[in-house]
Amino acid sequence: MSIAPPPTGTLGDSFARALPEMARPWQAEQAPEPRLLVLNEPLAAELGLDSAWLRSPEGLRLLVGNEIPSGATPVAQAYAGHQFGNYSPRLGDGRALLLGEVVHADGHLCDLHLKGSGRTPFSRGGDGLAAVGPMLREYVVSEAMHALGIPTTRSLSVVATGQPVRRDTLLPGAVLARVARSHLRVGSFQYAHATGDVDLLRRLADHAVARHHPDAGRRYLGLFEAVVAAQASLVARWMLVGFVHGVMNTDNMTISGETIDYGPCAFMEAVDPATVYSSIDHGGRYAYGNQPLVAEWNLARLAEALLPLFSDDQEQAIALAVEALGQFRGQYDSAWSAGMRAKLGLPDTLDNTVTTPLVDDLLALLQRNRVDHTSFYRRLGAAARGDAEPARELFPDLAAIDNWTTRWRALGPDADAMARVNPVYVPRNHLVEEALTAATEGDQRPLERLLDAVSAPFDERPERERYAAPAPDDFGAAYRTFCGT
Ligand code: AMP
Ligand code: MG
Repeated sequence: MSIAPPPTGTLGDSFARALPEMARPWQAEQAPEPRLLVLNEPLAAELGLDSAWLRSPEGLRLLVGNEIPSGATPVAQAYAGHQFGNYSPRLGDGRALLLGEVVHADGHLCDLHLKGSGRTPFSRGGDGLAAVGPMLREYVVSEAMHALGIPTTRSLSVVATGQPVRRDTLLPGAVLARVARSHLRVGSFQYAHATGDVDLLRRLADHAVARHHPDAGRRYLGLFEAVVAAQASLVARWMLVGFVHGVMNTDNMTISGETIDYGPCAFMEAVDPATVYSSIDHGGRYAYGNQPLVAEWNLARLAEALLPLFSDDQEQAIALAVEALGQFRGQYDSAWSAGMRAKLGLPDTLDNTVTTPLVDDLLALLQRNRVDHTSFYRRLGAAARGDAEPARELFPDLAAIDNWTTRWRALGPDADAMARVNPVYVPRNHLVEEALTAATEGDQRPLERLLDAVSAPFDERPERERYAAPAPDDFGAAYRTFCGT
């Protein structure tokens, strides 16, 4: 089963048609003075949208939800979720709208979605709005993730609304236009399950299978297995680049396996599994090193929501779920180990008995010496070519790294292969802050330079040298990002 594409020039509504109980038709708030801050022209082209038109007054009105193509019905989507472990039965799009579905040049269906478009029936106490800074953060980090080859929602545009948003201070408001394979989340299934309506749950699962995992056999266990596999692979990719999502609530985990919701996210610099950036994550639940465990925990919540579809016999349903979830650790470990071998330029054929102790010793060494994650792997490429100095100078303990490097070089690492997987540029926290602050004050140039660097993360360019360096010492350890802003 697949979903028919919408006719050209219109937006599809397959979600709203299949799941009216989870789609509240709604309108965006009027943006008094829409002003384009950034437009993703290559992505627009992939979606068959004309960039020149998107830049026009009518196009800007589409990008803030004030101009709706005829026949389209924007909706706020309902979902539930565990936030920091606590279940909320009714979250939903409190400041977002699904405008509709478009067809990507690859042939797959995508959601066109707005964030910061005003209050909805799910807003609870919130104002439904978003400030320029956080929407630009999502734009920069999601596009950086995409350039790194990591599955993610994409960002089409950020448009300043001309309406101020009250946070600690008054800030300029903005709407992000986001593109995703869908916005189905673990929390969508929790919501459908909690209604007690098994027919709704089944329709949601059918919709998810059609959109994301059409080859999944063994309905509906096959769907669950496909999500487990997609998330195991995704979180391994995060770990390999040092990405800390920051708010891995079940409503922020997709069924497609795309990274979603860039709130208090950041890239780790000094290697430390306890790294946390979110100002509200006091217990370190979503710390860097916890992410695989949290993903598994979230998938257990998905399994619970899907149980009625696995079998009419609850005991058997649970047994099937436990067995499928049991695949996660092995899948995660092999994705991560393969990724580490690639980062170290070592062939797949090397035995684990050789690579596992080598990798374990390296991780301990990086942590003990508080070495910058991204610079280390990139500089190690020079060591594979015979110049150990650039990597070596990152370590206070020279004897230890020299000893490790000798062991590693004896395995014949491939420097060219390393340069293809170890980025030079990631959106480092101090650079993101610098760009967002300047843009909020009206200067877009730092943002443009940062986007330029992180959009080609493997191409080393002399004029972008400062984008490869860790934060200055006075930025460092106390850095926090804020969610829900
Ligand atoms: P998040 O942690 O950003 O994924 O958001 C969690 C929930 O809070 C979602 O239901 C959001 O729609 C909602 N939310 C976040 N910020 C706002 C806001 N400013 N106004 C209304 N709802 C919000
Ligand atoms: Mg969210």
